[in-house]
Amino acid sequence: MPKKSSKAGHVPERTCVICKKKKEQYKLIRFAILDSEIVFDLKRKITARGYYVCDDNDCMEKLDKWLQKHIKKNG
Ligand SMILES: [Zn+2]
Repeated sequence: MPKKSSKAGHVPERTCVICKKKKEQYKLIRFAILDSEIVFDLKRKITARGYYVCDDNDCMEKLDKWLQKHIKKNG
């Protein structure tokens, strides 16, 4: 049996809201939506529902559009 399941190697995964790819949590940026605006939770202090986005330009550029859609959908 391969020695693969050591606890130290386990990294929690999150899904980017834009590209829907699963990545290790540290590769994504957490943000919340406060007053219809995106607030990046760099210090992980925001208790509102968090979302994750890739730390790269492609996904970041689309975040604005995503936000508009998201706000409409949720009233
Ligand atoms: Zn992404």
